[in-house]
Amino acid sequence: MKVEGGCHCRKVRFAIEIEPPVTLLACNCSICTMTGFLHLIVPQECFTLVAGGEALTSYRFGTGKAEHLFCQTCGVKSFYRPRSHPESFSVSFHCLDNPEAIEAVEQPFDGRNWDAARQLLAKQEAPDT
Ligand SMILES: [Zn+2]
Repeated sequence: MKVEGGCHCRKVRFAIEIEPPVTLLACNCSICTMTGFLHLIVPQECFTLVAGGEALTSYRFGTGKAEHLFCQTCGVKSFYRPRSHPESFSVSFHCLDNPEAIEAVEQPFDGRNWDAARQLLAKQEAPDT
């Protein structure tokens, strides 16, 4: 299904293609805890930035591998490029237009112990490897 979303002031708008039920990663790292970010990982070919590319600014910390993008006007991080999935975008589930209508299952991600959490997730995503 096609779903749209974006930031609070609506300068940043995107469209994604998803197949519910979707898995949401609830991460406990320092920045996700502060922002209440609930991750919906979307392959980049299923993500389209519709508007607001010029409104985005970025923030990096720690390893600098994740590029945290947020709107310069309203400050909302509606999506970004995650360290865990560099070929994908992580969309904030709360920033979708109608998240209540999407069947979703939450799964914890122990971002405070990032390397171990990423390994565990890789096993779940590809159990045969
Ligand atoms: Zn905004």
